[in-house]
Amino acid sequence: MKTRLPLIAGNWKMNGDSARARELCNALVSRSPHWPTLNGQKVDVAVFPPFVSLPAAHEALKDSDIVLGAQNMHEAVSGAYTGEVSAAMLLTAGCQMVILGHSERRQLFGETDLGVNRKAQAALAAGLKPIICIGETLAERESGQTNAVIEGQLRGSLAGLTKEQLQKVTIAYEPVWAIGTGRVATVEQAGEVHRFMRGWIESRFDTDTANGIRILYGGSVKADNARSLLANPDIDGALVGGASLNADEFDAIIRASV
Ligand code: PEP
Repeated sequence: MKTRLPLIAGNWKMNGDSARARELCNALVSRSPHWPTLNGQKVDVAVFPPFVSLPAAHEALKDSDIVLGAQNMHEAVSGAYTGEVSAAMLLTAGCQMVILGHSERRQLFGETDLGVNRKAQAALAAGLKPIICIGETLAERESGQTNAVIEGQLRGSLAGLTKEQLQKVTIAYEPVWAIGTGRVATVEQAGEVHRFMRGWIESRFDTDTANGIRILYGGSVKADNARSLLANPDIDGALVGGASLNADEFDAIIRASV
């Protein structure tokens, strides 16, 4: 039995233009009246378009409950950081959330736990809610290091955050070997890591904080595997990449969340 309201988040990565963002948002808004509820509350849905499509998406979502977020940000308030975008800029573009430490950013752009932690602090200070991505590689899993890697990433990424701040944070467990590969963690594999994460949060913070925080699963979630993953009481939603670019597929995942 679920106690936490699920969040289904769509990470569009570097796909589509503003016209496509508008079209996809309109398609989701038209489907949103049919989305399920838990204890009378409609499930949370958020989309994360590329930066330049945020204004078009914001306009299309303005009369809806769908939350807008960005895929990354810089930790500084402003300054000589060519090519970067600050939390305040994202807020003025209509964002309420931001994805931090996605494995593609860790692997392709050298992001570290320390950097993710700085960004998380800056996002929270500005009033943005971060989704912090955590996950092991295949080599790390196969050599039995999954829990150690997860613990290290949690410790580094959440360093210095207070219990109050953690209430505004969502964790996404994204095994690197499952992202964009079509290879999905089994419900048992995901559930085991989610329980490990919640246990770590309980030991580091407290039981209420651990029970309150949402831990999403991400990694090749599709309409046909969402229901079994999301039925697990330890899995509080999904961070969806490829399948979030198709309104019918994303809608089916949302409908499978409760
Ligand atoms: C992601 O981008 O966070 C992700 C999980 O991608 P995909 O669903 O395509 O594996």
